Amino acid sequence: MASCGRRKFITVGLRASVWVLTGSSVRAACVDPDELSSSVQSMRESLEYTEMAAEANESCRHCSFFKLGNPEQACAPCEVLASAVSAAGHCMSWTKRS
Ligand code: SF4
Repeated sequence: MASCGRRKFITVGLRASVWVLTGSSVRAACVDPDELSSSVQSMRESLEYTEMAAEANESCRHCSFFKLGNPEQACAPCEVLASAVSAAGHCMSWTKRS
């Protein structure tokens, strides 16, 4: 599974590059927007993060970047957005949890 880890690392790196090149701010209920750095806010905007996924089966809860501690959690850290996101949320980097 070393190639899977490398692929994920490269994917996150590319997404971080997009974040550096674009963006502005998006507010989130799982975090105090005033506590987010401008770079994290920019990442959320550029990846079109939303608190509510259009398709429930494509929510953060089912994303490989969502670091869910237990199934009942409403919020958890996202590796891509480097901040807490909603389990019901979604962004353009959604990747099915394997
Ligand atoms: S990458 Fe996007 S879809 Fe996946 S957990 Fe983070 S915010 Fe949610």
